[in-house]
Amino acid sequence: AEYKRGFACVDGEFVPAATASVSIFDHSFLYGDGVFETIICRGGRLFALRPHLDRLWASCQYLQITPPYDQEQITAFITELAKRNELSDGYVRVVISRGEGYPVSDPRKALKPKLVISMQGAPAVTRPPGVGVKLAIASTRRTPPICLEPRVKSNNYLNHIVAKLEAIAAGADDAIMLDLEGNVAELPVANIFARHGDTLATPPSNGILAGITRETVLRLVAEGAAGPGLRVVQRVMTAYDLFTAAEVFIVGTGSGVAFVESIDGRRIGDGTMGPATERLMDAYTELLGRDGAEPDLQLTTKEA
Ligand code: PMP
Repeated sequence: AEYKRGFACVDGEFVPAATASVSIFDHSFLYGDGVFETIICRGGRLFALRPHLDRLWASCQYLQITPPYDQEQITAFITELAKRNELSDGYVRVVISRGEGYPVSDPRKALKPKLVISMQGAPAVTRPPGVGVKLAIASTRRTPPICLEPRVKSNNYLNHIVAKLEAIAAGADDAIMLDLEGNVAELPVANIFARHGDTLATPPSNGILAGITRETVLRLVAEGAAGPGLRVVQRVMTAYDLFTAAEVFIVGTGSGVAFVESIDGRRIGDGTMGPATERLMDAYTELLGRDGAEPDLQLTTKEA
């Protein structure tokens, strides 16, 4: 299959992705005891690599996993992997697992963290232009901080997957997950924004995975990229705020900036891409090719 082509990098060794493997005793396989990042690569440049690696480090810190390589080494592995796979555009996944150990849910049994890096040339989902995302509000709630800190990007996505199953069963593409109070949190792998008039709103960063794309969009709006006079606020939102919005869009490394066509079968706005979404989509696409353009991160030597 296409997603298995080329190489993967396992603990610094480059091996064919199709046969690369981790142990059946790996604690991430057994217990989800690991962390990860997905980074977009455009025109040979890794977008926001530093924030992604910093978030990976924070996730490791929280879980008391010592990264087996430093950030410079991981950067070198990613660069080499992209070169070997001859991909200047794609998605890089970096996983750090607690490692291999006796199969019991005791982290002290797995003492050698493992690094796995893989790369895909194409996104998981490609949507024809003009086609938006259909969302359904799931009954499965976003894990609250008292259960598992949502800012940690761990290999624990089961409730996100259950929410996604609900959305699929409802005939939608993806799920909106609420928090325990019933406020809007996020999607299984994306954050969400809604516009009313001159105000864009997105849920506050605690209680969700505060995405790097979300952060980028907040900055782009502040710079005027969503249109003159548009401001953005982080505030508690309910389904009402989404249903009544002029436009709703989702943001994430995998989805980019994508407009929402409907939620629970209700059309959002006029059901087409709104002006703020379109501007931000263009601004984000433009930024991908040039941000994080520190020379050592470049896979190619061409200048922006
Ligand atoms: N929320 C969750 C739960 C995610 O897994 C992701 C994808 N990493 C996002 C939001 C979007 O984050 P980012 O923009 O950093 O990809």
